Amino acid sequence: MRAWTVREAAELYGIPYWGGEYFSVSPEGDMLIHPNGPGTSTVNLPALVEELRGRFSDILASRVRHISDCFARAIREYSYQGRYRGVYPIKVNQQKQVVEELVNYGRPHHLGLEVGSKPELLVGLALLNTPEALIICNGYKDRAYMELALLAQRLGRYVVIVIDRPNELDTLIKASRELGIRPHIGLRARLATRGAGKWAESSGDRSKFGLSAEELVSVVNRLRHDDMLDCLEMLHFHNGSQVTAIRAHKDAFREASHIFTELHALGAPMRLLDVGGGLGVDYDGSQTNFHSSMNYTTQEYAYDVVSAIRDICDEKGVPHPDIVTEAGRALVSHASVLIFDVLGVDGVRTATQPVPPGPDEPKVIQQLHEVWGSISARNVLESYNDALQLKEEATTSFSLGYLDLQTRARMEELFWACCEKSMRIVRELEYVPEDLQRLERQLADTYYGNFSVFQSLPDSWAMKQLFPVLPIHRLDEAPSRRGTFADLTCDSDGKVNQFIDRRDVKSVLELHAPNGRPYYVGVFLVGAYQETLGEMHNLFGDT
Ligand code: PLP
Repeated sequence: MRAWTVREAAELYGIPYWGGEYFSVSPEGDMLIHPNGPGTSTVNLPALVEELRGRFSDILASRVRHISDCFARAIREYSYQGRYRGVYPIKVNQQKQVVEELVNYGRPHHLGLEVGSKPELLVGLALLNTPEALIICNGYKDRAYMELALLAQRLGRYVVIVIDRPNELDTLIKASRELGIRPHIGLRARLATRGAGKWAESSGDRSKFGLSAEELVSVVNRLRHDDMLDCLEMLHFHNGSQVTAIRAHKDAFREASHIFTELHALGAPMRLLDVGGGLGVDYDGSQTNFHSSMNYTTQEYAYDVVSAIRDICDEKGVPHPDIVTEAGRALVSHASVLIFDVLGVDGVRTATQPVPPGPDEPKVIQQLHEVWGSISARNVLESYNDALQLKEEATTSFSLGYLDLQTRARMEELFWACCEKSMRIVRELEYVPEDLQRLERQLADTYYGNFSVFQSLPDSWAMKQLFPVLPIHRLDEAPSRRGTFADLTCDSDGKVNQFIDRRDVKSVLELHAPNGRPYYVGVFLVGAYQETLGEMHNLFGDT
């Protein structure tokens, strides 16, 4: 057999494409992490597994820097007059260590926090002490949440309360009067522009949050009437997470910029434009608008935000606002890896050379063996169909009591041998007929992983989102098996059976045969949402 190289392993699993500058393979076949980019110190992942904390804080620092640098460059090149003021949405990963590290690394960039509930606001107030950093309050707001947001101003925090629904305004006006604190108000607009990707439902006319044009105008009138229009300073929108197409971003930036200048024209002292989250992560490395990818770079995104706002503000003679982004996924995805060990492997055991039938064995066994012997590249589909038909007939005969269990076992052995032989031929074909495409999955091994999909990869289960999955060692050895993963929960859909492939989605993953030693598999880019959804979403307790 030809020697296998780590380069082939890297290509097979698409590491150079999704791994960017942070992940590679060592000459010994181990996954490496480069927290500070290429050419810098490396972390050998399998060597660290036993003591692994599962998170690479320097990656967080690098991501904060990366996004801020992209905006700084766009602002410089477009002679933009406003500043960039990012905020990190706590709900994307609320783990204390993550939020603390982002606040620390984000201090030079004035990174603030976005909160979506009162408990998250408490976290924000406890952890954020960066001067000039914003706290943006989104989500469902009751009186207690509003009061806390207002009182936080007395602690010297810059808290913007975003009106998501028209009836929140009453509560805010009342609370503000009673406490004698004038709020910083933002309005969340419901754009007509729709996002792109699996989360596009968060945008458009029927989205759950945000004010329609009519509601925006009536909120402005109400604020004017109550002598609070001077408190309205921010426009916010969120076009859904993981927006895959730059076109959807661009359209949204333009629509929002027009709303912004209109609010200014209505007399509000608008100074912040918050473009929400949605900055994507290229999970499969294909650089396309496929749902687990994105067809643009962070720099391109920054250029488009800055240029759209600048052009429209200049056209209308409105001062350039500070730009706020609520990028979550793009900040934290790279910083966590889920690693599980494989506890066992099950598979369809097939003999490459099945035992020929004896003269006394039933006809169906003779026929199946003949089919097996005759399978070739020219008749593979026909032979497969014959084998399938014989299997079905034999199963019916068994149910009617005409075949004994031993014959049924022989039939299954021969049937799987036919499938195995067909599959070897199919792998070499340029075009694979649809009926034969399922062979790969049918014959795949099941690798039992020591984890729960529901707790650790909820979006893989619920949204069919793809993550890069691969063994973190033995990458200098050609993988000889193809498998899917089953978790240890008792739920039948606790499995991972779709894998990244830069041209498509793979239904099986190339894996190594068990060798009696631990086998560790990594699921990469899981820092956003996966841990959070598995524990306390938005920090709400149990119902
Ligand atoms: N802002 C708001 C209002 C959100 O609802 C979300 C998540 O959907 C985000 C920001 C973060 O989005 P992303 O992780 O795509 O950046």
